[in-house]
Amino acid sequence: MRDFSVDHRWLSLNTATVRKQGDLVEIIEACARHGIRAIDPWRDQVATVGLERAARAVRDAGLDLSGYCRGGMFTSDATRRTEVRDDNRRAVDEAKTLGAPCIVLVVGGLPQYSRPGSTPSKDIVSARAQVEDAIAEMMDYAKTAKMPLAIEPLHPAYAGDRACVNTTKQALDICDRLDPARTGALGVALDVYHIWWDPEVLSQISRASKDRLLAFHVCDWLVPTKDILNDRGMMGDGVIDIKSLRRAVEAQGFSGYSEIEIFSEAWWTRPLDDVLRTCIERHRTVV
Ligand code: ZN
Repeated sequence: MRDFSVDHRWLSLNTATVRKQGDLVEIIEACARHGIRAIDPWRDQVATVGLERAARAVRDAGLDLSGYCRGGMFTSDATRRTEVRDDNRRAVDEAKTLGAPCIVLVVGGLPQYSRPGSTPSKDIVSARAQVEDAIAEMMDYAKTAKMPLAIEPLHPAYAGDRACVNTTKQALDICDRLDPARTGALGVALDVYHIWWDPEVLSQISRASKDRLLAFHVCDWLVPTKDILNDRGMMGDGVIDIKSLRRAVEAQGFSGYSEIEIFSEAWWTRPLDDVLRTCIERHRTVV
């Protein structure tokens, strides 16, 4: 396993971690101040400053991207299918412009929550089938741009509203069905927050192997968790054995960034430079 204690060259910042402290350009400038070499920006943050300006800021700062957040939210009723498809195609185009290595897919839960206004449904089986069809369709477009897609399984608590792909196994099964030749076009983004509880996680990481492991996200699970969406912990403040999970992905040959992604009302109130300093310190000691 790589030694992270001596520097933070493999730290990437998911820019949602400090989304309330500044716009994307300000976040990029802060990363430069702190010697952070990579980011994973969100589409809304890019849209706020403009795609061209965002791409220029990334280039000028010499930053890598560890992903682009996010594509997906595939589940909808029939009236919104074209909108969903086109929205995801735009995400591919933006990722290409920004120089992202992959698009992170949060696949959607039930249609009325993924794409508000859709006819309500309780049919999670259909939702999962729809997700798979939509990923296949998006892959056709993404392949022409040589943009890999990374399915992020989300904790089952999000099955209703955000993602009905909830385990590493489920995500890898989709990869095996849609990309059996392991072309690199489809893989997974593993986020410790979503996978740490899963008794099968280590065996599934072994099954994934390097060509499926496109991204690795870290934060921590606080006990008790006050808000399932926006009460994620700073690494070291919760109960996730982060090093064991990193050891497992690196044993498969993963050699990419360790991306810090913390949605937290508490951390969003802290000054930007304080948050980044803490991220760097915890990356060295806990990740
Ligand atoms: Zn994540």
